[in-house]
Amino acid sequence: MSFIDFTLGKISEAEFVAQFPKHLKLECWAPGVLYLPGESQFSLVLSAGIHGNETAPVLVLNEIVARIIGQVLTPKHACLFILGHPQALAKAVRYCDTNLNRLFCGQHLRVAACIESMRAALLELCVARFFQLHDAKQKLHWDCHCAIRDSFYRRFAVVPVAKSPCIDITHRPLSSQLNKLQQAGIQAAVLSQLATNTFSYASYIQYGAQAATLELGKALPWAQNNMLDHQIFQDYLISLLSLDEVKGEAEVSHELQLFTIAQQINKYHDDFMLAFAADAANFSCFQQGEVLAKEAEKEYCVQANQEWILFPNAKVENGARALLTLTPYVS
Ligand SMILES: [Zn+2]
Repeated sequence: MSFIDFTLGKISEAEFVAQFPKHLKLECWAPGVLYLPGESQFSLVLSAGIHGNETAPVLVLNEIVARIIGQVLTPKHACLFILGHPQALAKAVRYCDTNLNRLFCGQHLRVAACIESMRAALLELCVARFFQLHDAKQKLHWDCHCAIRDSFYRRFAVVPVAKSPCIDITHRPLSSQLNKLQQAGIQAAVLSQLATNTFSYASYIQYGAQAATLELGKALPWAQNNMLDHQIFQDYLISLLSLDEVKGEAEVSHELQLFTIAQQINKYHDDFMLAFAADAANFSCFQQGEVLAKEAEKEYCVQANQEWILFPNAKVENGARALLTLTPYVS
């Protein structure tokens, strides 16, 4: 009777809680939302399954919660564990009505009511309550996903670094998070100055949390995941939860490739098409002048000496982002 079973409604909250050891202060805030208090100067939100077909990180969080319930793991920090989208997870689909990961920062109030808008509202309330309870602490939110397409860097992170009058963004928290990401087996980080409505961006911009959207390999059905591929990540999360002091202040070594966003290419016309293979991997590299996409009379070309592509998708609705390009980050 696991966290996944509780999230999917296969067991009741009472049945799930009945397994908890008496002294364990784990609280169910909602289906798929578990809170564990902690007294350290660090608070941690770990979420997965915001897209219901991205199963591997859900299995990682499920294992971590099982170890906490089994008293094999005793976190030192306040934690909020979230399995993001129960209905989509039950159907093993990316979403039911619309993309949940575009509805945070209050965006759920500006779309027609649907399964995802209600879930986004609930998750925002849970995160707000959590960070209000642990306001004085160093905050971290890692929202864990899997990518739809192949990727030159199998495990990468999108890290918001947008400027905000509400947030004092100094170099130190960024380097601290990059170091944690590297220790967690992340191979590349895209430092994004773009404002978005993703779950991790909301924690960054609203609460000043170190935050990242993690892409942890390719999205696979439940039974097809090789969890050995996720061992380094799972082991790092366990050590992060277990340590008295949150490590990760050391210099970032060369092994984490850093990128920044060069171009955001939006689709405006129905005839929008990408100029490269539909299955081109994330982080494929193109040279200056090469055409990346076309629509109507317009061509979108590589502007820097080289640009690397990320999240290409010609099937988005008009007005939406169809492609990002990257250049190396220079601090
Ligand atoms: Zn995803």
